[in-house]
Amino acid sequence: MSELSRGNRWLQRLGDGMRRHASVIRAAQWLVVVFYAVLLVLPAMLPLPDSQARLLDNLTLLAQFLFWGIWWPFVLLSMVLFGRLWCGVLCPEGTLSEWASHYGKGLGIPRWLRWGGWPTLAFCLTTLYGQLISVYDYAQAALLILGGSTLAAVGVGLLFARGKRVWCRYLCPVSGVFALLARLAPVHFQVDEPRWKANAGPRLPPPTARPCWISGVCAAPVTVMPAAGAADNATRYA
Ligand code: SF4
Repeated sequence: MSELSRGNRWLQRLGDGMRRHASVIRAAQWLVVVFYAVLLVLPAMLPLPDSQARLLDNLTLLAQFLFWGIWWPFVLLSMVLFGRLWCGVLCPEGTLSEWASHYGKGLGIPRWLRWGGWPTLAFCLTTLYGQLISVYDYAQAALLILGGSTLAAVGVGLLFARGKRVWCRYLCPVSGVFALLARLAPVHFQVDEPRWKANAGPRLPPPTARPCWISGVCAAPVTVMPAAGAADNATRYA
C-alpha cells in the first residue's frame, strides 16, 4: 500500500470518528469561545501594565502573548498544514456566527453581500486601522478590532441565511488569506459527499459548503491530496 493511500485511510478513519463524535467537537468549540472571550475582554478591563510588569504576573501581558505569540501563529500554521481545519472545527467567530444563524431572521443573502471583494477590503481596513491603534500592544484596541469583527459575524448570522455561515463565506476579513495559505496544505479538510452518504448513522444531511465550515456537522472525511488538488477543492463550493 502506498504511503499516500495509507495516509488517506488513516485520515478517513479520523474524519469518520469526528463525524461520529460531533458533540465532542461542539463542546471543544464552546471551550474555545470562552477562552477567546476571556483573553479578549478581561485584559481590556484591567489597567495598562507598568514598565516592571512581567508576563507571568500580569494578565494583560500574558493574554497578549497567548493571542499574538501562540494563538495567531498556530492558526496560520494550521492553515498551511491542514487547510481550513481551523475554520471547520475551532474558530470561535465562525462558531458564534453559525450559532446565531440558527436563531436569526433568515432574510436571505442580499446581492450586495455576495460581492467578492468584501474579505479583501475588510482585511485591508482592519489591518490598517489595527496598526493605527496599536492592536498588538493595547488590549482595548484588540477588543475593538477582534470583538467588533465577532459582533459583526453574530449580526450577520442573525440576519441572513439560517444554519449557514454567511459571514465565513462572504465577509470574514481573514478568509482570503486563509484560502491562500490553505492552498499549500498537504492535508485538506472537506466534505467527501459520496462517503458521507455511504456512512452508517448517525445520518446527518450532507453539508453544503466546501471547504467544510459547518462546525461539528461538517467533520467529514479528510483526505491527503497533492497541493494542486487541495487548491482546487479549497475554492470550490457546493
Ligand atoms: S472564515 Fe473566518 S470567521 Fe469563518 S471560521 Fe474561518 S476564520 Fe473563522
